[in-house]
Amino acid sequence: MKLLAFSADGRPRPGVLKGHRVIDLAAAGLPAGADGDLLEIARGGNGALDRVRNALDDGGARSYALSDVEVLPPIRQPSKIVAIGLNYADHCKETGLAVPAAPVPFSKFTSSVCGPHDDIVWPVSVTREVDYEVELGVVIGRRARDVAERDALDYVMGYTVVNDVSARDLQFLGPKQWDRSKSLDTFCPWGPYIVTRDEIPDPHVLRLRTLLNGREMQNSTTGNMIFGVPAIITFLSRGTTLLPGDLIATGTPSGVGFRRTPAVFLKEGDECVCEVQGIGALRNRARPV
Ligand code: MG
Repeated sequence: MKLLAFSADGRPRPGVLKGHRVIDLAAAGLPAGADGDLLEIARGGNGALDRVRNALDDGGARSYALSDVEVLPPIRQPSKIVAIGLNYADHCKETGLAVPAAPVPFSKFTSSVCGPHDDIVWPVSVTREVDYEVELGVVIGRRARDVAERDALDYVMGYTVVNDVSARDLQFLGPKQWDRSKSLDTFCPWGPYIVTRDEIPDPHVLRLRTLLNGREMQNSTTGNMIFGVPAIITFLSRGTTLLPGDLIATGTPSGVGFRRTPAVFLKEGDECVCEVQGIGALRNRARPV
């Protein structure tokens, strides 16, 4: 199933895609998160997903044309967003860094979340080097702590697309840290859907691409990840509890703008499309202010 948060008539609510129509899950009696999103459905686990399936099968369910609604970020305030750096060998190479021996996690502040079609907005007084990174996103569906690798995928609600937008001048300013450079407001567009795990039995066979104004900038497959989804969940859940709705961005392949010659950074009006096979595409415009 392709789950989404959407707004029709100005009211955010959870939905599920059926062809080109969006079934209103709030009208079907499913709980909406405080932001009208999918957080409560994530918390409801398999029971909630069964109720979504029933709504999908209900011929009389209230629905809207997809083209008539605004698609919102699937979850506006996950308890955390953890991103993995340096998880593709070709990206390690282009950045001149060694392939890591263990996953390299950092945080994106949850206030950086924006919708799959929202503008990416940044103050030019703060950064002038804004870059894209297409990534497979993993949404946690069950409380996870000290999870074994063989069981890890059981804790996944579904998969999504993340653009790990990054301010390179902040990233390399002063002592090494990534969080601030990747956490400005609007620097985490994600969605447009959470595709449930049953539809993606193997998350390591998905093509992912970035198109900047129609020009292909990144093109790889999740099969090139150094640490796969189970290894990442196992690693992160050691000593840390992952909660339903938490978002993990699994790293980006080569082709980012700042390592190109000449370097490419987002500029006014650029259209950045990040897509993952079988899930969908983010389509965001750049808007420096
Ligand atoms: Mg990244």
